[in-house]
Amino acid sequence: MKYYILFGPPGAGKGTHAVAIAKKYNLKHISTGELLRAEISSGSELGQQAQSLISAGHLVPDSIVEGMIEHAFDTYTEVDGFLLDGFPRNIAQAEDLDKILAKRAKQLKGVISIMIPDEVVKTRIAKRAAVEGRADDASEETINNRIRTYHAQTEPLIEYYKEKGCYYECDGNQGTIEVNQRAVLELMDSIEAI
Ligand code: ADP
Repeated sequence: MKYYILFGPPGAGKGTHAVAIAKKYNLKHISTGELLRAEISSGSELGQQAQSLISAGHLVPDSIVEGMIEHAFDTYTEVDGFLLDGFPRNIAQAEDLDKILAKRAKQLKGVISIMIPDEVVKTRIAKRAAVEGRADDASEETINNRIRTYHAQTEPLIEYYKEKGCYYECDGNQGTIEVNQRAVLELMDSIEAI
């Protein structure tokens, strides 16, 4: 099993590009955001707990998302690996992921980072709000909180993974979706070749 992280700010295109990467490399794409939205729409207790935090643009407790990740690792055995999207999102989650992988005698193969500036985050999320109707995309205050949360809690992971020597970055704002996707897949090809 190979373990990859798809990293980047909200709206970087992680969800879109993850589908192509997962297909090409036979990876299971795990989006903690999607899993949480499914819990919310099913009305589960976990979903109810997560809803107010997500709609305010805050992170949900680490234990919730880590439980989801471990469950997915145990469930999907017929793939060549996993592509984590939206996890880890802070240093504590990254350290816990290290422990989860160590328990399985595995390590991270690479962090594929898609970078876009804050202004592009805002315009993309505003467009996505109209198409996908995600509640946390609709309010400007929530979007600003998500951007703040990203810089304060998630961005420090860049240094964390650079120090581990497994951080690979590409520009996620090079033109059309196809052009950006080609760049992400080329980056992935170069990591696979290592
Ligand atoms: P985006 O790609 O726009 O950042 P996601 O779909 O990844 O959005 O996540 C939506 C929301 O779900 C986040 O703003 C956060 O509240 C919650 N969430 C997702 N993943 C995590 C995580 N690993 N830890 C804590 N909260 C998370």
